[in-house]
Amino acid sequence: SRLLGAAVDRVLGDALREVAARIAEGSVADYIPELADADPEAFGVSIASVLGRAYGAGDADAPFTIQSASKPFVYAFACEELGAEAVHEHVGVEPSGEPFNAISLDERGRPENPFINAGAIVTTSLVPADDADDRFRRIRDALSRFAGRELDLDDEVYRSEAATGHRNRALAGLALAAGSLATDDVDAATDPYFRQCALRVTTADLAVMGATLANGGVNPITRDRVVGERAARNTLSVMATCGMYDRSGDWAFRVGMPAKSGVGGGIVAVRPGEFGVGVYAPPLDEAGNSVRGVAMLEALSDRFGLHMFDHV
Ligand code: GLU
Repeated sequence: SRLLGAAVDRVLGDALREVAARIAEGSVADYIPELADADPEAFGVSIASVLGRAYGAGDADAPFTIQSASKPFVYAFACEELGAEAVHEHVGVEPSGEPFNAISLDERGRPENPFINAGAIVTTSLVPADDADDRFRRIRDALSRFAGRELDLDDEVYRSEAATGHRNRALAGLALAAGSLATDDVDAATDPYFRQCALRVTTADLAVMGATLANGGVNPITRDRVVGERAARNTLSVMATCGMYDRSGDWAFRVGMPAKSGVGGGIVAVRPGEFGVGVYAPPLDEAGNSVRGVAMLEALSDRFGLHMFDHV
């Protein structure tokens, strides 16, 4: 109902103001030069339910680049296309406990999980395609179906990262040498990866993308089946263990929702069977997670008993 909608919007707005008044730490990512221009005061939140209802407050319609919050959705798409077993020939599912850009491969030569950069680049390389452009086109189509609208590329952020992403190219080269990259052309993996990270979203988009996972792979607004139930479950499992960089354990303890953050300041979190949440606030902690975003989700989790181990 409209009354309920207005009430939820107000609760979200109150929570945003409370968190904004209490928390002002963190710094905007600048290792990708173009990200440094983000407004440090931008702050928005959205919720989308599996029944197709949408709520929001603050800068819920402000666009930002999805960055690492793209990774669960590309992983889900790869699982859908290839089956999880084939995907996991190339990438593991263990939390790495290391920073997102760590140089690390397991004893089988696979990146530890699909959410650290090395594993995400490998996952992108697995998406069947003719070339780099085709691979990005297929990824963009898939992420757009998760969001229920056509997502567009932030060309400046893409160019900025492509010009400076030497470490990611090195990670791809390492994965190629170890036998886990699915192409022998490093650029055919990193170029679509840089572009996937530069797709522009809002918190409203992230909420619907999360709600699609919460709903077993069916977008609750468009009713489109984007991925199967098993791919959605696989994705939520990795989000529950590996979604918040090397703070994933602390996050699981304090907030207790499958989630994924990105260095653009966005976080997508999921309450399985119920709803997706998107938050956006650019200043990050040392691990790369949005400081206000984490505080907002912790506040909502505490207040509404959203921790997966809450007894409700
Ligand atoms: N495009 C960014 C990178 O690869 C994503 C990092 C992130 O959001 O964690 O460095």
